[in-house]
Amino acid sequence: MKYISTRGISPSQNFEQVLLTGLAPDGGLYVPEVLPTFSAEEIGSWRELSYPDLALKIIAPFIDGEIPEADLREIVESSYANFNHPDVAPLTQLGENEWVLELFHGPTLAFKDFALQVLGRLLDYVLVKKDQAVVILGATSGDTGSAALEGCRHSDRVELFILHPHQRVSDVQRKQMTTIISDNVFNLAVEGNFDDCQRIVKAAFADQSFLPKNRQLAAVNSINWARILMQIVYYFSASLRLGGPEKEVSFSVPTGNFGDIYAGYLAKKMGLPIKQLIVATNKNDILHRFIAHNEYSKTELSKTFSPSMDILVSSNFERYLFDMFDRDSEKLNDFMKKFGAQTLSVSDEQWQKVRSDFDSASVDDDTTCEVIAEVFKANGELLDPHTAIGLKAARQCNTSNTTPMVTLATAHPAKFDEAILKSGLNTPALPEHLKDLFEREEKYSVVANELEAVTEFISKHCTGLN
Ligand SMILES: *Cc1c(COP(=O)(O)O)cnc(C)c1O
Repeated sequence: MKYISTRGISPSQNFEQVLLTGLAPDGGLYVPEVLPTFSAEEIGSWRELSYPDLALKIIAPFIDGEIPEADLREIVESSYANFNHPDVAPLTQLGENEWVLELFHGPTLAFKDFALQVLGRLLDYVLVKKDQAVVILGATSGDTGSAALEGCRHSDRVELFILHPHQRVSDVQRKQMTTIISDNVFNLAVEGNFDDCQRIVKAAFADQSFLPKNRQLAAVNSINWARILMQIVYYFSASLRLGGPEKEVSFSVPTGNFGDIYAGYLAKKMGLPIKQLIVATNKNDILHRFIAHNEYSKTELSKTFSPSMDILVSSNFERYLFDMFDRDSEKLNDFMKKFGAQTLSVSDEQWQKVRSDFDSASVDDDTTCEVIAEVFKANGELLDPHTAIGLKAARQCNTSNTTPMVTLATAHPAKFDEAILKSGLNTPALPEHLKDLFEREEKYSVVANELEAVTEFISKHCTGLN
């Protein structure tokens, strides 16, 4: 399997190469040259498989023999053995044809564990094989950081530098990162917002001369293809339990960087019968404005109760735009160059394509809290604010009352107690393995919102491991 850059200039790469890098050198994102597809018959034959076995079926064509099956099996099985629920991704019913897919039973209580538990093991495996080491640099709006640290920290082939926006992540989120005290782990609190962190990371990847010799940066953000890949699996898993592939299923996805919903889009293109894919955003609604009004423009960043979705520009959206432009890199380059300076729109034909692929909604903080309170009263289920946004969007956009509608529950409510308290409810308890989180020692460094401050820190602390 070959992976090509959306910008069309960098040469294609294989799976292992894509795993070890971030953006392509031309600034694009890697996507498979050809997407594998599965027949309904084949998908139907997977109904009885365990979650890891299903994952192996789905990811096999993407890895295409680069990692021997037995090794891949061990990586995938040990990744999901760390989850706190026998179904790995259980479904909870709220009403007739209304479901929530719980993706928060991993070690750090957000859906990002699904990809990062595997990614950490894959990286270690490939680095050992190649006898290499890498510096992992990532930006987090809160959840990626802890999931990346949990997934990668046991590898003695990596040093991890994770940037989070200073004082803009929840206490639980911060503690989950900063209480991991290890020689190869560095948490940097950047005096800026998440987009600033993303910008710094992007710039550091573009010029890696600050690193010691023989080192390169590897990405743990959802620009890393392996993350997207692992997220395709739970769309298949949910569908199979709700009557798929004979029956269509719809999904509503709380969206920030467009990674999770993009995985759903791929699942559909690979043959899974999905009726609706709903992009649920908070007040930071660039994607909703584009889908609903053909208007693609930056606004000011708003701080909301759903901080993991406080994102101005969704990095993975480029992967979708590439398809929307019929994989014409010149058109995509032109669009991306103009973006920022002006409000962009696409041709009517392209926009209709977008509208046939996605529905969308934007949900504000007050409504988020109302939904949390309402669902708790009606069902006794406590939703985290991101999930509440997904559910509201599902209810607003649903066009069929006979198709199961699945909202992705992207985080455990205990991670975001501000919204829960504002909803008039009590903070839920943290699961057993995190009970003493607030008593644990913290370690992190506050750095200026500047590329040089970050690169200097890395070159000073990156010792070189071997
Ligand atoms: C990361 C995250 C999101 C957004 O996911 P994307 O793949 O960036 O769209 C939503 N909710 C939670 C809880 C998250 O951690």
